Amino acid sequence: MRKKYIFITGGVLSSLGKGLSAAALGAVLEARGLSITNVKMDPYINVDPGTMSPYQHGEVFVTEDGCETDLDLGHYERFTTSTMLVRNNFTTGKIYQSVIERERAGDYLGRTVQVIPHITDEIKRRILVAAEDVDIAIVEVGGTVGDIEGLPFLEAIRQFRMDAGPENVLFIHLTLVPYIKTSGELKTKPTQHSVKQLREVGIQPDLLFCRSEMEIPKDLRQKISRFCNVEERDVISVPDVAHIYELPMKLHAEDVDDRVLEKLGIWASSADLEPWTDLVSRLHHPTKTVRIAICGKYVHLTDTYKSLNEALAHGGIANGAAVDLVFVDSETIDIDDPSGALGDVDGILVPGGFGVRGTEGKIAAIRYARENSIPFFGICLGLQMVVVEFARNVLGLTGANSREFDPNPTHAVIELMNEQREVTQKGGTMRLGSYPCDLGEGTRAHAIYDAGTIEERHRHRFEVNPAHHAALQDGGLVISGWSPDRVLAEIVELKDHPWFLACQFHPEFKSRPLAPHPLFTSYIKAVAEAKRARQRGAQVATA
Ligand code: GLN
Repeated sequence: MRKKYIFITGGVLSSLGKGLSAAALGAVLEARGLSITNVKMDPYINVDPGTMSPYQHGEVFVTEDGCETDLDLGHYERFTTSTMLVRNNFTTGKIYQSVIERERAGDYLGRTVQVIPHITDEIKRRILVAAEDVDIAIVEVGGTVGDIEGLPFLEAIRQFRMDAGPENVLFIHLTLVPYIKTSGELKTKPTQHSVKQLREVGIQPDLLFCRSEMEIPKDLRQKISRFCNVEERDVISVPDVAHIYELPMKLHAEDVDDRVLEKLGIWASSADLEPWTDLVSRLHHPTKTVRIAICGKYVHLTDTYKSLNEALAHGGIANGAAVDLVFVDSETIDIDDPSGALGDVDGILVPGGFGVRGTEGKIAAIRYARENSIPFFGICLGLQMVVVEFARNVLGLTGANSREFDPNPTHAVIELMNEQREVTQKGGTMRLGSYPCDLGEGTRAHAIYDAGTIEERHRHRFEVNPAHHAALQDGGLVISGWSPDRVLAEIVELKDHPWFLACQFHPEFKSRPLAPHPLFTSYIKAVAEAKRARQRGAQVATA
């Protein structure tokens, strides 16, 4: 089979779920037995999103090979079996960086370096590289058609169709069909305009994914078909779904996989969507509910913790539990009495983060969880705060802190290692990507993973200061995960507690709905058990 390429562009406005649609399309094509990969091309100038604020960009997703990428790559991994690598996400910044490096090296000697063909060639080259090992590459163009900065990408994919042969390339355009309340109508004009804009740059979409609040009726599909020059059966209705994991089934119900395969001339087995149907049915029939407080800084935008939210939901699915997330701004936690903010939750989680703001609230939340036997999960900064809390309140090391928050603490229990001290540039220089970790026999971590060595993804500069390892362990904080050279503490846990564990890595990046991460499965189980025990206790008390 010749390699096939599907390009997905977006129209009208952002946040319509282009990434999710690309991911769900990947799921349906995998269900037909095809091997796929997803690629995201981002038109902004940053070389990667690693230095952007979560407020600007949402979560930074980390790949196995240590690239800081767009959060859509998280969707791609969660909906498919593929593993995203550095090649699966590139930006205008990255494209220009390579072209300019080549220009300085003299590779274009004598020639003028231009957007067409040099920038567009580099874009096309990267698409080919990303698609190397698969049957179909699904390539999402970030942003919205009409954005100035997106033009070179559109030009590149227009040319790509000619280069690869029109029979091997498909264009899908995702648009909005808004419902206007005052007139009680769905409107097609924004879609018409958006397709017109796409045609102005030489791209005629083959399929339209029409996002709307409700199903798009036949007469409107006809209208869109006529105005946009797309067959009526290729106008796909993609209404809001109750849960994102319904999307693969929804696309299949709309015959999207058949249409795509027919247009690309691919013969494939029929779709096996059973894992997804099972999953959705479990999602819709939870037997219990748990409430978990996420004590963080970026609580106003849940996109910041995208993979974390999903991983917790996956842990819920594995336990038949609906997981209610309560986002608690750690700055608002009363340090002397956190029960106001945390009194009615079944579990507490402190996620990753940067910067001092809100850290004292996080430390108070950790102490509250530790002293009140509330299941606690710390991730990355969460682990570092566990160590600070333990050092201060159990070991009595007053003034213990992370070097990140205090340049001169009395006890720097969280410290920069030598490699990080030499770092001068901010971009791409943290400890990034997958690292092995050895698990201590007889620990909770070992039991949960049921393995001696694991690999997890990292994104941080600071580490537990090795000078304090012995004191922390002697005081009762078990270091259950170690770097293979036994220099770095990767997991810490408490023994006499229902569930208290923190890891320096980000397990949420590796959780998938069809393969929930063991730490999240175990944590949600413990949270549900703690809730049941508490309810039983309350019943006994009132009896
Ligand atoms: N700010 C901390 C560090 O850089 C933790 C980072 C994180 O939580 N991802 O080490």
